[in-house]
Amino acid sequence: MTVQTDEILLTAARAALGALALPGGGTLGGSDRLAGVNVRGGRVDAAIRVSAAEAAAFADLRAEAERLLAALPGVARAHAVLTDEAAQVARPPAPPRLAAAPAVLPGVRHVIAVASGKGGVGKSTTAVNLALGLRAEGLSVGILDADIHGPSLPTLLGLRGQPRVGPGRKLVPIDGFGLKAMSMGVLVDEETAMIWRGPMVMSAITQMLAEVDWGTLDVLVVDMPPGTGDAQLAIAQGARPSGAVIVSTPQDLSLIDARRGIAMFRKVDVPILGVVENMAHFVCTTCGTSHAIFGEGGAAAEAARLGVPFLGAVPLTMELRRASDRGQPVTAMDPDGILGQIYRALARQLLAALAPAAPTSLSTERRADR
Ligand code: ADP
Repeated sequence: MTVQTDEILLTAARAALGALALPGGGTLGGSDRLAGVNVRGGRVDAAIRVSAAEAAAFADLRAEAERLLAALPGVARAHAVLTDEAAQVARPPAPPRLAAAPAVLPGVRHVIAVASGKGGVGKSTTAVNLALGLRAEGLSVGILDADIHGPSLPTLLGLRGQPRVGPGRKLVPIDGFGLKAMSMGVLVDEETAMIWRGPMVMSAITQMLAEVDWGTLDVLVVDMPPGTGDAQLAIAQGARPSGAVIVSTPQDLSLIDARRGIAMFRKVDVPILGVVENMAHFVCTTCGTSHAIFGEGGAAAEAARLGVPFLGAVPLTMELRRASDRGQPVTAMDPDGILGQIYRALARQLLAALAPAAPTSLSTERRADR
């Protein structure tokens, strides 16, 4: 997939530049030195503000900026200049910092982070179906795929095409079964995002929070990157979630990974709304019986031991895997089926867990127009 519009290219260019490390520490995006970025017809110009005395120290940064811009898909020519004035190009609004995220999500009542200690446990599958479960409960819901290196939302929700640019030059989320969805997977091609490192990933996530027109939402579900590194910590801190959901397989719950996730959110005072046990037992497609391969009740006991609520268990089923891979999530396709009911029950549990954290309970304030 290539970046087609100037506006999308501008977002990618700002994300790339924002992540550049300044000679004296900090990032370009975290300073007021980015005097302007201009995109027209595949040509990108950027101006970096420095004093005359600083110019030599910023020469490498300028070259790196130009190299990064030139590497973005859709860029034919890239030019970066050092300036002691903001004269060359129009000055854009200061790139938002992640710490300021809540201010740029004024219409979002609750951000819920869905996280896991490691990859492959079904975090994204859970995030999508939980979001759809909340939607089925009558809430307006968005979902942000913050897993920059392995975006799965385009597959799970069968998202097609690129987002359009709406009023205020903000990106309009793509509709996925009634969810407002955004993922790096619909903005840039996989290889581009793959080579992004820590600060660039942070910048990209910041842009997706701040420069997407999320509008009015009861809940924005954030599908967190797997693990508990700096990026995860910064999102947990910056997006100020109302709470976090930890997804784990039964055998992993007792392992250090899930505990790290729980500890990370606790460190930044984000309440753990609960643990979802995924792939809990195996439902045989031939005989329909359920096999508790890892034993019964272990996860609930383990959650209690860790001092976090247990939201419920999702079985390991072929149907769920097939549906996810086809972009036809079970909770949207068959909300009254067994899996649909499980995710809707999880969503209700989640709302109940959220209620004490949010005195104005969502469930009592649903809008009549939905
Ligand atoms: P993560 O986000 O933790 O990396 P994913 O949600 O992408 O994990 O899931 C990894 C794979 O496991 C996907 O192919 C998905 O369809 C499958 N999967 C997830 N949960 C289940 C489940 N309960 N039963 C069967 N397959 C599942």
